[in-house]
Amino acid sequence: MTYRTPITRFVRIGIGVAAAGTILGATLAPMVLAQTSPAQTAQAQTADSLALTVAETEGPYFKAGSPEATNLLQDGMQGQVITVTGQVVDQNGQPVANALLDFWQANSSGAYDNSGYTLRGHQYTDANGNYTLTTVVPGLYPGRTEHIHVKVEAPNGPMLTTQLFFPGVAQNARDGIFDPSLLLNVTDNGDSTLSATYNFVVATA
Ligand code: FE
Repeated sequence: MTYRTPITRFVRIGIGVAAAGTILGATLAPMVLAQTSPAQTAQAQTADSLALTVAETEGPYFKAGSPEATNLLQDGMQGQVITVTGQVVDQNGQPVANALLDFWQANSSGAYDNSGYTLRGHQYTDANGNYTLTTVVPGLYPGRTEHIHVKVEAPNGPMLTTQLFFPGVAQNARDGIFDPSLLLNVTDNGDSTLSATYNFVVATA
């Protein structure tokens, strides 16, 4: 919705100006603009569908069969603890209950567990489409900025494979996979842990 609103407004203003210029004369343009903006934009917004969350490459380290877990921390695990929460919604903004989320990531040193299932886990959204993931901030590895991989799938929907990124990481600018629409919204809790949010928009059929 955040990207589409300005585009919608631009198109409508464009039509308003064109109509005013050709039919009514240029002097009425300001009135047309004033009438066009608030009410019609709001109407268009409710009729608009949300843009789907951007897909990204799966990369080489996905493993099927992850355990069901919302907390991927283990005793002695290094790294900064982060809890990511959010919602899975459809293109109308409606919560998607029982959507699958399967997360996998590198540890704080940038290494994946390819023999076991450390820092790998799947879960399902609750009745309100909400999920919670507790994990550590992944480290850098050659060629890549910090990222958490995830597959998201609504019941009966297609599988979305994507990655979540962290704001303020210098390597973001040098990673060809990085996409700013996939940035977590991170808050420092002030107790050496982080909280973050991200909402996914997925197809449901
Ligand atoms: Fe990766």
